Amino acid sequence: MFLVVSKKTLRLLFLFCVIILSSFFVCASTKVTSIRPANKYCVVLDAGHGGIDGGSVGESGIFERDLNLSVTQKIKGLLNTLNIDVVETRKTQDGLYGEFAHGFKQKDMKERKKIIDSSNADLVVSIHMNYFKDSSAHGAQVFYKPGCLKSKTLAGTTQNLFQKNLFKARKEPLKGDFFILTCSEKPGILVECGYLSNREEEALLISQEYQNKLAYQIFCGIVSFFDIKTIENI
Ligand SMILES: [Zn+2]
Repeated sequence: MFLVVSKKTLRLLFLFCVIILSSFFVCASTKVTSIRPANKYCVVLDAGHGGIDGGSVGESGIFERDLNLSVTQKIKGLLNTLNIDVVETRKTQDGLYGEFAHGFKQKDMKERKKIIDSSNADLVVSIHMNYFKDSSAHGAQVFYKPGCLKSKTLAGTTQNLFQKNLFKARKEPLKGDFFILTCSEKPGILVECGYLSNREEEALLISQEYQNKLAYQIFCGIVSFFDIKTIENI
């Protein structure tokens, strides 16, 4: 008995086989390349501002609040590929103060501290965008927690990566007496990703491509902080 198979069915069968085979190879190659660190790490990612507190505003009308969130989400995605846990202080455009009322900023910061304190995090990374009245000011700047060597080391590594790979980044990390860094015992850095007051830098900061580049440098800094040796195998 002959089995009549049309050309269309044959084409579909062929396509099906190609999909099965290619997914096999993708899985096989993923197994080889996604090496996970032996230790379990956790990072608090803090997207600065939120809700009514938009932070700085660029010439284009973009709010710092929104860019901060976008960059932290990209860092989170990268950290998750290495099985590093992430606790976000905020996952949406909203602030952490509930109803808008007098003293909302203090309430917002208190909530952030609560999240940091209740986490098992080994590190806090806060993301912001800079602004200055002189529009020629430029470059990403990393701040570290005063008196904390671990923070200073991470800030140095990250600032170096910025200098090599980002738009006119600043040369040296700076000491930063920010509440988000000093409110807990955990080491931490605050990253001012660039100036929204600089037209050229603002355009870069808005682009997904530059945000990915930025997030990747911060991710690499964190990976070196934890001394994860498998970064080159990703
Ligand atoms: Zn800010």
